[in-house]
Amino acid sequence: MLSVLHTYLCEMQKIGILGGGQLGRMLLQAAANYPVETYILENDEKSPAAHLCHHFVKGDIKNFDDVYRFGKQLNALTIEIENVNIDALMQLEAEGIQIFPKPSVLKIICNKALQKQYYADHKIPTAPYLLTNNREELAGNKDFLPAVHKLAEGGYDGKGVQVINDEADIAEGFDELSVLEKKVNILKEIAMMIAVGVDGKVELYPAVEMVFDPSLNLLAYQLCPAEITEDVYFKAEAIALATIKNFNSPGIFAVEMFVTPEGDVLVNETAPRVHNSGHHTIEAHYSSQFDMLWRIMLKYPLGNTGAIMPSLMQNIIGADGQSGLADYAGFEDMLKIDNAFFHIYGKKQTKPGRKMGHVTIMSNEKADLLHKANKIKHNLSVVAKK
Ligand code: ADP
Repeated sequence: MLSVLHTYLCEMQKIGILGGGQLGRMLLQAAANYPVETYILENDEKSPAAHLCHHFVKGDIKNFDDVYRFGKQLNALTIEIENVNIDALMQLEAEGIQIFPKPSVLKIICNKALQKQYYADHKIPTAPYLLTNNREELAGNKDFLPAVHKLAEGGYDGKGVQVINDEADIAEGFDELSVLEKKVNILKEIAMMIAVGVDGKVELYPAVEMVFDPSLNLLAYQLCPAEITEDVYFKAEAIALATIKNFNSPGIFAVEMFVTPEGDVLVNETAPRVHNSGHHTIEAHYSSQFDMLWRIMLKYPLGNTGAIMPSLMQNIIGADGQSGLADYAGFEDMLKIDNAFFHIYGKKQTKPGRKMGHVTIMSNEKADLLHKANKIKHNLSVVAKK
């Protein structure tokens, strides 16, 4: 018996995650169901994922040696953020360690200029664009306005994105390599998560719809399924599948798209990893995006992407003017709400706009989803401890 157990433990796959934030944390929660030994590489020992892995390794995910040394002891490796040392991942891949997604995909996605080029090369519908190397070149393309200026590298969560409506906005533009993309008349922003197995088998999650708060330019909430016509749905599905096809990589992908008033679908960007727009799948779908990624990495059959019930996902973010040790005012009361599932990420410090958690609400009635989301928005706030 002991030797059987010994063999079992010895044969357990060793899989690592670069980054120890909330995505890593939720990945590890799902890993607990499977025979896998988990590793995290992260600088902050108090990060949300740190205490949930079997082995925490302190190190810099952008440093070649740290990533290489970390990966060398593993069977497979994934990421929770794109901004990692891709050269080290390429080296590890060449030496037989499986990387989800392939480093070649990360290379394309990490750079918005390369990402746009990829869409153009594979005839994926996306907003027309040109590249600018500095603000002068931006000024030289007045005829292309109104447009959206996006830093090629280093932007995230809307940082590194600047709307340039007319000449007066040019001073707000970026002075380094950027994509200047025609401003799209957006009816809806949607996203589709796609799972790709090592055998190339593909499963799609239903589309979600992101609703933005125009005053804060932040995601207000996200609905699943997206309220779009059947025609748009099929178009989005085909475009999302075409987008990931030529990556030729197993893994989990989120394809973010714009739907125009005319019913056109344009790809905005792709994330080659578990993603904010898939958080609702933890409770609202049979196999969550996190469960699915373990299935992919452990070479198990893909899970069921179907929805158990319609859902709304809302981020829980640090309140304005509040910086310091995080406190969750109103939390206990909110836990009384039926079918609302809270995830507090365990970040010690709050600051305005920081993602501190999320809630997924499930209901067959949209009015019920919206009512509960509104209640939570107004009664739960992440403040600094007095
Ligand atoms: P990030 O990578 O930081 O999330 P995005 O490229 O997704 O940045 O842009 C952030 C937001 O800016 C989008 O969700 C959308 O609301 C708006 N946006 C981006 N590109 C365009 C565009 N071409 N036209 C209109 N709005 C856009």
